[in-house]
Amino acid sequence: MAFEGLADRLQNTMQKIRGKGKVNESDVKEMMREVRLALLEADVNFKVVKDFVKRVSERAVGQEVLKSLTPGQQVIKVVKEELTELMGGEQSKIATASRPPTVIMMVGLQGAGKTTTSGKLANLLRKKYNRKPLLVAADIYRPAAIKQLETLGKQLGMPVFSLGDQVNPVEIARQAIEKAKQDHNDYVLIDTAGRLHVDENLMGELKEIKELTKPDEIFLVVDAMTGQDAVNVAESFNEQLGLTGVVLTKLDGDTRGGAALSIRAVSNTPIKFVGMGEKLDALEAFHPERMASRILGMGDVLTLIEKAQANVDEEKAKELEKKMRTASFTFDDFLDQLGQVRNMGPLDDLIKMLPGANKIKGIDNLSIDEKQIGHVEAIIRSMTKNEKEHPEVINAGRRKRIAKGSGTSIQEVNRLLKQFEEMKKMMKQVTNMQKGKKKGGFKF
Ligand code: GDP
Repeated sequence: MAFEGLADRLQNTMQKIRGKGKVNESDVKEMMREVRLALLEADVNFKVVKDFVKRVSERAVGQEVLKSLTPGQQVIKVVKEELTELMGGEQSKIATASRPPTVIMMVGLQGAGKTTTSGKLANLLRKKYNRKPLLVAADIYRPAAIKQLETLGKQLGMPVFSLGDQVNPVEIARQAIEKAKQDHNDYVLIDTAGRLHVDENLMGELKEIKELTKPDEIFLVVDAMTGQDAVNVAESFNEQLGLTGVVLTKLDGDTRGGAALSIRAVSNTPIKFVGMGEKLDALEAFHPERMASRILGMGDVLTLIEKAQANVDEEKAKELEKKMRTASFTFDDFLDQLGQVRNMGPLDDLIKMLPGANKIKGIDNLSIDEKQIGHVEAIIRSMTKNEKEHPEVINAGRRKRIAKGSGTSIQEVNRLLKQFEEMKKMMKQVTNMQKGKKKGGFKF
């Protein structure tokens, strides 16, 4: 998991100070020594670390902390605020041109994930903002880059503009924008060429494309796993091109987090999105505050809720609520629910977003047994319609048949039936409690 070492160390340090009724300068000094080491070890740029430690120290021995009733917690609040600030403070939004199309140039070194990210971003723009993007294949040097983008376009059911690899990328960009205007595409995402290193030819070409297309955004795609190299790349691209944002990819990997924490301060460019996997929906808007919260073990409940909202069908949710109230929840509904939760992503990733989750012993080795959920689904699918609606008819003979049909054991069938029975009982209790209240005080 990304940030693991840093999160661990910072949380241990914070734990020591949390409950303190009094905090003096030497406590703060001690804490900051540990914070400094934790950040350096996470590969955060040393100058960034120095400034950060200075700012937190000043505030932590200031009046706002020392005079408060809970100084330990105030110090943690300061650390969280400064971490948030370090990563850019407010979440930065994506630009919209006053006259469409909005043009976004995607730049970066080879292998950073530029082409994949172009596809992911197009997907996000359509899914979340209802936009109609046009993808443009302007990387004519990397073998197969054009093909790769075309394949992504096909997967997404989105148009890809390409003129092959014999036409100058500047010309490709020009024609692509004309095409977007004709076809009423409101975003144009130009996948430009990458190189192995920052070089003059590349920059020259990118500058020409910039000159011609006057992009609303220039996003640099960098690989979080490359640590301080990513930060240096961001700095030089920004100097030459003037970036409007960074997309940090592969944050699902085992990165120590140095790039995420240093890029903004060193290159003066905010991280706008983060890549969390290879799939086309694995791109998230970057929220500095939520990331700070994750690093400090305070969880990221907001992202969790958003994931739920994006994947749970509202109509179905309403229907379900009614079923719960009238206690007519069946195994079919249960199956449906499992499907919706699965859509949100791997369960262990979701659990890690809960506050304090990374303090649970062995959470990293915990892989929720997706197979077991598969068994539950198989068991339910082996029931007849009547059994799903009236599980009380499932006698010993039927249990045996269901176990056989689903390739599971009678014990597993028994366990599921028992759990389902208990869940229904609980729903009844909640419903009764709600009925007891005059205005039905809470909803879920
Ligand atoms: P480009 O040369 O910059 O266009 O890079 P590609 O888009 O071809 O990506 C290089 C590799 O990185 C591919 O195998 C991608 O699937 C992978 N990749 C891109 N973004 C992510 C990410 O956020 N997480 C992970 N795990 N892999 C990614």
